[in-house]
Amino acid sequence: MNCDFRTDFPIFSKYPEMVYLDNAATTQKPRQVNEAVTRFYEEANANPLRGVYDLSVKATEAYESAREKVANLIGAKDASEIIFTRNTTEALNLIAYSYGLSHLHEGDEIVITIMEHHSNILPWQMVARQTGAKLVYMMIDKEGRISPEEIETKITDRTKIVSIGYVSNVMGVLNPVEAVIKKAHSVGAIAIVDGAQSTPHMKVDVTELDCDFYALSGHKMLAPMGIGALYGKMKLLLEMPPFLTGGEMIEYVEQQSATFAEVPHKFEAGTVNAGGAVGLGAAIDYINSIGLDYIEKREAELVKYMIERMGELPYIEIIGGSKPCDHHGIVTFMVKDVHPHDVASILDEQHVCIRAGHHCAQPLLKFLGVNATDRASVYFYNTEEEIDRFIDALTKVRGYLGYGA
Ligand code: PLP
Repeated sequence: MNCDFRTDFPIFSKYPEMVYLDNAATTQKPRQVNEAVTRFYEEANANPLRGVYDLSVKATEAYESAREKVANLIGAKDASEIIFTRNTTEALNLIAYSYGLSHLHEGDEIVITIMEHHSNILPWQMVARQTGAKLVYMMIDKEGRISPEEIETKITDRTKIVSIGYVSNVMGVLNPVEAVIKKAHSVGAIAIVDGAQSTPHMKVDVTELDCDFYALSGHKMLAPMGIGALYGKMKLLLEMPPFLTGGEMIEYVEQQSATFAEVPHKFEAGTVNAGGAVGLGAAIDYINSIGLDYIEKREAELVKYMIERMGELPYIEIIGGSKPCDHHGIVTFMVKDVHPHDVASILDEQHVCIRAGHHCAQPLLKFLGVNATDRASVYFYNTEEEIDRFIDALTKVRGYLGYGA
């Protein structure tokens, strides 16, 4: 297989020994992205959206062009429906503080799933606390699936908001978001998709999905940290109050009042992360040059290989679905008798980077009856040889701690 693009990632030549399998936490960055950010600061740096002089116009164009790229990537009809945020967490908080607090009342319900990342739980706990609404969970089976009955019974006439991760950052399962969105709309609720783990790995079309909001993080898709985006339907964004207030998001300010800028700038208070947005734009160009079809197919091959090889080790239990296609880039597992943190430390000694812990999904782990797990997650630049190194390192774990095979 052609993995020429590995040479685009300076970190792999800096640490040739390293096997990086923590891509669900954050991905590595290609030279093209780093260079685009540097170029912005060396050739177009000025405060965007403020100056009328040439350099500021250049900065504004670079920033707005990145917005267009995000819109095109996720199938938004209008780039003004894209709001830059710091990450998925901030995007979901924006909806909670702006839409949630202004639309929900006592007796209303917010429906999420038990497998959500804390970023898609805590903002809704806050809305529930402040408005008297109730937070309701759709439960899953052992394989991580939400049944049609669960969707049917939990989303009711009381539901005003449904928020669901497209791909679980623990189980790796692809959720039935289309069915959830349809049901949400049938009861008059809005539907939010947490796209942190889907956008980097598969084609997404928010218009086809018909979701009301969609959140993503740049750093999980080759872009710098500190830049993310929120898609929102224009109709909703127009009626929502601002989330943060201050410079840049206003039209006029009087001593006691203010009017606000147009969408999306109404939601982008203060000096924006233009360098980050440019980096996200470059990351999208890079992803498009490889192709999301290729990325999805390649990751499926890698996950299949990983699961097959893990199957050779009888002391490994994989959490979630039994088939490789149940795991979208993510394989969460336990090594019999060994604490997940010890597994990760022993792997680290062999230069293999995996994640151990609760993966910011404590309600899910409690539901599964575990305190922590290990998680290996791939991106298109990983190779079968790296997976062999991971398996080799895994075979040593129990021996290190004095257990038999
Ligand atoms: N949602 C999911 C499914 C995630 O996996 C993550 C991060 O791991 C987040 C939300 C939060 O992303 P961020 O930390 O970039 O805001």
